[in-house]
Amino acid sequence: MVDIRRAYPELGNCLYFDLAYKTHAVLYELPKNRLNWLWYINGDEPELMGSSVTMKVSEATVSEMKEEAERVWCPELARLIGETAEPFVNVIYDAEPLPGLSWAGGRVALVGDAAHPTTPHGLRSTNMSILDARVLGCCLARWGGDGNAEPTSTPRRALAEYEAARRPVVAAQVLHARRLGRLKQGLGMGSAGDGEGFDSRTATEEEISQLRQSSMPYFSGAPTIE
Ligand SMILES: Cc1cc2nc3c(=O)[nH]c(=O)nc-3n(C[C@H](O)[C@H](O)[C@H](O)COP(=O)(O)OP(=O)(O)OC[C@H]3O[C@@H](n4cnc5c(N)ncnc54)[C@H](O)[C@@H]3O)c2cc1C
Repeated sequence: MVDIRRAYPELGNCLYFDLAYKTHAVLYELPKNRLNWLWYINGDEPELMGSSVTMKVSEATVSEMKEEAERVWCPELARLIGETAEPFVNVIYDAEPLPGLSWAGGRVALVGDAAHPTTPHGLRSTNMSILDARVLGCCLARWGGDGNAEPTSTPRRALAEYEAARRPVVAAQVLHARRLGRLKQGLGMGSAGDGEGFDSRTATEEEISQLRQSSMPYFSGAPTIE
């Protein structure tokens, strides 16, 4: 722990992300003196078993990865990776923003990951889900029916208002998280995923500024209907 704290002095106060050529790693501290690291590796679509996106990896793959870590990361992070007993692979997906958040003629609403599965690169997923629930709650309270309105129409109005408030926000945030992932992984930014990828070694200040958390759409607040 001493070495890694020297290399990453703000551990415990922040989440670090380290960039290398066409890859990046994330490192942060968990309670009880534990660390969590993630190393994002570009790869072909894997064959998944069952419904889980978490996969065990072979010992051969783990030792290759540990060797590669020595070449890519600073010695402290490479050592942490090397000393981790059972690293596993988690496949990262997102989905195109849905055309709507309410379904079945406005009688069912989706919130959270069901409404907008997103990559983790925007560091936003849980906040998005909590805000969905809050906005939906406010809309239901507002249109919950005062006894005069037609009973079947009020939940629909609530769900329509929820969708109008949240869909543009979550759609923009999912797409931004995808873009951040492509930037951090040095993948092409063209519309077909081609073109020049971001290279942290030669990037301009302006390009680097896109990686800031504050570049997330609605970073300073999204409408809450209150
Ligand atoms: C490994 C990992 C790390 C993550 N790290 C972060 C992070 O650092 N920061 C962050 O913001 N987000 C993170 N996320 C994302 C975050 O966990 C999700 O965005 C968030 O939990 C979404 O909340 P949710 O309520 O929409 O879905 P969930 O938390 O998935 O809740 C859905 C619930 O529905 C239950 N369920 C499913 N099907 C049924 C059924 N048929 N009947 C009844 N219940 C059912 C499930 O068991 C589950 O409890 C991470 C996700 C993963 C997988």
